Amino acid sequence: MIQITMPLGFLGTVYREIRQALVDMGEMFDLLQQPAEIQDKEDADVLKVKGGHISFDHVEFAYDPTRPILKGISFDVPAGQTVALVGPSGSGKSTIGRLLFRFYEVTGGAIRIDDQDLRDVTQESLQQSIGVVPQDTVLFNDTIRYNIAYGRADATDEEIVAAAKAARIHDFVLSLPEGYDTAVGERGLKLSGGEKQRVGIARTILKNPPILLLDEATSALDTQTERDIQMSLKAMGEGRSVITIAHRLSTIADADQILVLDKGEIIERGRHEELLAQRGRYASMWARQSAEEEDEAEQGAA
Ligand code: ATP
Repeated sequence: MIQITMPLGFLGTVYREIRQALVDMGEMFDLLQQPAEIQDKEDADVLKVKGGHISFDHVEFAYDPTRPILKGISFDVPAGQTVALVGPSGSGKSTIGRLLFRFYEVTGGAIRIDDQDLRDVTQESLQQSIGVVPQDTVLFNDTIRYNIAYGRADATDEEIVAAAKAARIHDFVLSLPEGYDTAVGERGLKLSGGEKQRVGIARTILKNPPILLLDEATSALDTQTERDIQMSLKAMGEGRSVITIAHRLSTIADADQILVLDKGEIIERGRHEELLAQRGRYASMWARQSAEEEDEAEQGAA
């Protein structure tokens, strides 16, 4: 009997691992798309993250050589700071995220983390150092504990609870019929978009990467959920270098730096108040979004 159950248990583990890998890839798809074949250098080093200073130095990039997408992008994310990318659809925000992950090779300039050129380090060590919180967190048909701990099989219950608290989802989990043992996902309890995102945040907090890439949800959430998510994102960003792809400006007003992209170029940069004072593109985007949000609030109240 033992001889039979052991291999079966082993198969279960393999099955889980394959399933995890597939969902992991699925999760990245939106932001990171299908990766091209990039080879590590023969003598590639392991990336050594000290503070997590990210530097884009005159980066140029084209998916298709006849159509340049990024045209000399330079910016720095000093260790522990948050930089937000805003701009119209197609301006190149997600492309910057994909290049940071080295899913594509820059065609000009360089990207460095703590002075190490991404082309000189292994992709595995690079990708392990970056936590991605996608727009839609994929849940497994398993317990909520499993879903939070995913990617850190060795996590203790204390660590899982601490991550859930930091992501502001612990109280919600305790309100579920079986707490952390409640089955979620398609075949279990279905979670709302905001709850799923907080599971994704807890998962990333548990993984503890020094660098974060956030792809903020485009869809508006209700005000309370939005506030909860913002607080958990803030907690997660403490002490990490963060690049946020923002769709709604209200969520990035306290970023250390905001970059306004247009057609692959940075057309404005600064803090929220500085950009408003410039009365340029950011200021008009802000005015437009504020008016839209007021309209929505009025419609909601009517
Ligand atoms: P959005 O806000 O709509 O997500 P974005 O600012 O993130 O837009 P990107 O996804 O970076 O924009 O796209 C920048 C440009 O690159 C677009 O013109 C897009 O059509 C093009 N592009 C994106 N991915 C590919 C690809 N895999 N192959 C070819 N062109 C691509």
